[in-house]
Amino acid sequence: MNIKDYKNVWVFIETARDEVKRVGLELLNQGRILADANDEKLIAVVIGRHLDAAAQSVIAHGADEVIVVEGEEYADYNTDGYTNVMVKLVEKYKPSVILIGATNNGRDLGPRVSCRLATGLTADCTGLEINEETRDVAWTRPAFGGNLMATILCSATRPQIGTVRPGVFKKAQPDFARTANIIREEIKTPAEEIRTKLVGFIKAEGDVVVNLEEAEIIVSGGRGLGKPENFACIRELAEVLEATVGASRAAVDAGWISPLHQVGQTGKTVGPKIYIACGISGAIQHLAGMSSSDIIVAINKDPDAPILGVADYGIVGDLFEVVPVLIEEIKKIKT
Ligand code: FAD
Repeated sequence: MNIKDYKNVWVFIETARDEVKRVGLELLNQGRILADANDEKLIAVVIGRHLDAAAQSVIAHGADEVIVVEGEEYADYNTDGYTNVMVKLVEKYKPSVILIGATNNGRDLGPRVSCRLATGLTADCTGLEINEETRDVAWTRPAFGGNLMATILCSATRPQIGTVRPGVFKKAQPDFARTANIIREEIKTPAEEIRTKLVGFIKAEGDVVVNLEEAEIIVSGGRGLGKPENFACIRELAEVLEATVGASRAAVDAGWISPLHQVGQTGKTVGPKIYIACGISGAIQHLAGMSSSDIIVAINKDPDAPILGVADYGIVGDLFEVVPVLIEEIKKIKT
C-alpha cells in the first residue's frame, strides 16, 4: 500500500428509509475542516434506494462531491450489502479518511469495512483534528472509563477510519443553492450474499420512538426524581415542549426508565438546542453525553451540584415545585 495514493475525506451518510440522519451532516461540517487542512475534497457517500433528495441535502450541507449507490437491496441497512459497496468504492477511489457516525449501524459497518481493507479504525470518537506533524487525523476518544482522553493516529495504513459519536459536532446551516458533482456507481450485491433480512420494524416502548440523537429539545430526569412514578412530571414537561425524554444512568439502573433513554458516556451523546436536566447531579460521565448542547438548563436543589457549573440557566430548587410551574408557564405561552 502506498499511502500517497490515498486522498480526500469521505463521510458515510447514514440514511433511514432514504432520509439522511443528522449525524452524517454533523460529520460533513467537521470533515470540511479536515479536508481543508490537507487541501483535499470532502466527499459524501450515500447508499440506499431512492437518494435524489438525500444527495441534494448533503450538497447543501457542504459536500464537494457525492457518490451515490442505489439498489433495492440497500433499501434498509444490512451489513453484507453495505460492506460490499463501501469496500468496492474504497478500492476504486482510495480515500484517505472515512468518517462514520457511531450509531448502531455505523458501529456495525465501520469495523467490518476496516477489517476487509486491513486498516485501522478508531471507535466512538469525540474529537477530530489534523496532527500538525504527520498530517494524519488525530482521533480522540474517552479511555479508561472516561478518566482520560486518548488521541490515536493511524499512520501506517489507509484509509484512516473512525466512528464518531452523534451530537459531538454541529451541522452547518444548509445552502440549497450549492451545487456539486453527483457520481452514480452501479454496485450490486447478490441476494444470497446478504445473510440478514429485515422482516419488520417494531417500535420500542409502545408508540414512543426514543430518538435522543436527533432531538432538538431533551428533558432528562435523574435520581432526584426519587421513584419511577415521578418520571410523569418529566414526561409532561417534555410533552408541552415537544421534547424527547432522557435520563441519567442512576435512573436507568434503578429500573425507573428504559436504557434507551440514557444520556452519557455509556448512553447516548446528544447535542440538542435545549437540554433540561432535572434532579441530575452532573457526574463527569453524564456531562460527557450532553455538554455540547446549545443551552443547558439545570434544576437541582443542591447549589453545589456540578451540573450547575455547566448550565447556562441554573434553577436551585425542588424540581417537584419548579417543573409544574414551568409546565404551566409554557402552556400559557403556547395558548
Ligand atoms: P445523583 O448523582 O444521585 O444525583 C441526584 C441529584 O438530584 C443530586 O444532585 C440532588 O441534589 C438532586 N436532587 C435530589 N432531589 C431533588 C429534588 N427534589 N429537586 C431537585 N434536585 C434534586 N451516568 C450517566 O448519567 N450516564 C452515563 O452514560 C454514565 N456512564 C457511566 C460509565 C461509567 C464507567 C461509570 C463509572 C459511571 C457512569 N455513569 C453514568 C454514572 C455516573 O457516575 C453517576 O453515578 C450518575 O450520572 C448519577 O446520576 P444522577 O445525577 O441521576 O444521580
